[in-house]
Amino acid sequence: MISVKHLSKTYRNPDGSSLTVLKDINCEIQPGEVISIIGPSGTGKSTFLRALNLLDPPTSGEILYNGENILAKGYPVHKLRQKMGMVFQNFNLFEHMTVLENIMYAPVKILGKSMADAREEALSLLRKVGLAEKAEVYPSSLSGGQKQRVAIARCLAMNPEVILFDEPTSALDPTMVGEVLSVMRQLARDGMTMLIVTHEMRFARDVSTRIFFMNGGYIHEDGTPQQIFENPRRSATKEFTQRIRREVFEVTADDFDLPGMFTTMTRFCIKNNIPQYCDRVEKISELMVTDIMAAYRPMTVRLNYKEIADEASLDFMVENLQETPLKNREALLPLCREIIEEPTTRGFRVKLLL
Ligand code: ADP
Ligand code: MG
Repeated sequence: MISVKHLSKTYRNPDGSSLTVLKDINCEIQPGEVISIIGPSGTGKSTFLRALNLLDPPTSGEILYNGENILAKGYPVHKLRQKMGMVFQNFNLFEHMTVLENIMYAPVKILGKSMADAREEALSLLRKVGLAEKAEVYPSSLSGGQKQRVAIARCLAMNPEVILFDEPTSALDPTMVGEVLSVMRQLARDGMTMLIVTHEMRFARDVSTRIFFMNGGYIHEDGTPQQIFENPRRSATKEFTQRIRREVFEVTADDFDLPGMFTTMTRFCIKNNIPQYCDRVEKISELMVTDIMAAYRPMTVRLNYKEIADEASLDFMVENLQETPLKNREALLPLCREIIEEPTTRGFRVKLLL
């Protein structure tokens, strides 16, 4: 369906310098595939999507869409954009139009549909994304999650063959990420061909048929979710997909700002979409810092989260200590799955798996 060969993109800056963002991108995408594109920021993921639908034409290389060279002079760009929908991080809804008008606009203007048909289809798409009752309101009264679902419905109204998503949930409050992902999951189940730039690793693992790990202007590794997340062939992929998110606190003297630490911990849990751990993280930290390990200050406390394994843990580390500081574990047992006590190069660590 889409065939990309030796694609490159160089931005030329006004000062004469240049930046080659896409170096040599090669891939084949079949109908019905759901491909998540992951990788560090600045590695050209957005540029790649924009090159595919010619929002930002590449410098060299070849893109075939259903066998046709879309970079050829005279290729009808508007036709391509109808077949290749795009959903952006910031929704890009028309603020002066109602939800229904947003969805009807392109089908009427570009496909020449009658108002009645466009309206009927728009309503049915709104039902599909769970927003039928919002048809007559303006986007400004919607939450971010609702806006993004409208944007998806608007995209579907053009009856696209493939949809490109550029970080569709990055601008959303964490509580609204789920409703957008669930609409996307449904699309994937319906067989829509999708390319999704995302930082939602668990979602990428669960819905994708394939993952592209982009790094340094290349598709550094291309494989099944299982390969990329569990058995990456290349070390940069492994480093990226198995990375640990972490918040570190140096708990020093008695006047340490404990409430401040709890606030940061709560924020960390919410940001990483694990609010269910908030309570226990706080209880355990308080117990350890003020009671069980109070005599071992200064200590380092780390809150860790491995997204792919969905594993949260708390570390309590003390320097120059050879044996476990844990005398009493009874109080901890109901609060964690496992207690790991181990010496480190600099001292001793107590790790609690939540
Ligand atoms: P990603 O989506 O992976 O975070 P982007 O594709 O947005 O990365 O950007 C890749 C690089 O290209 C970045 O260094 C960015 O600053 C640069 N870049 C993106 N768009 C432009 C532009 N219009 N002009 C110049 N540089 C750009
Ligand atoms: Mg981007």
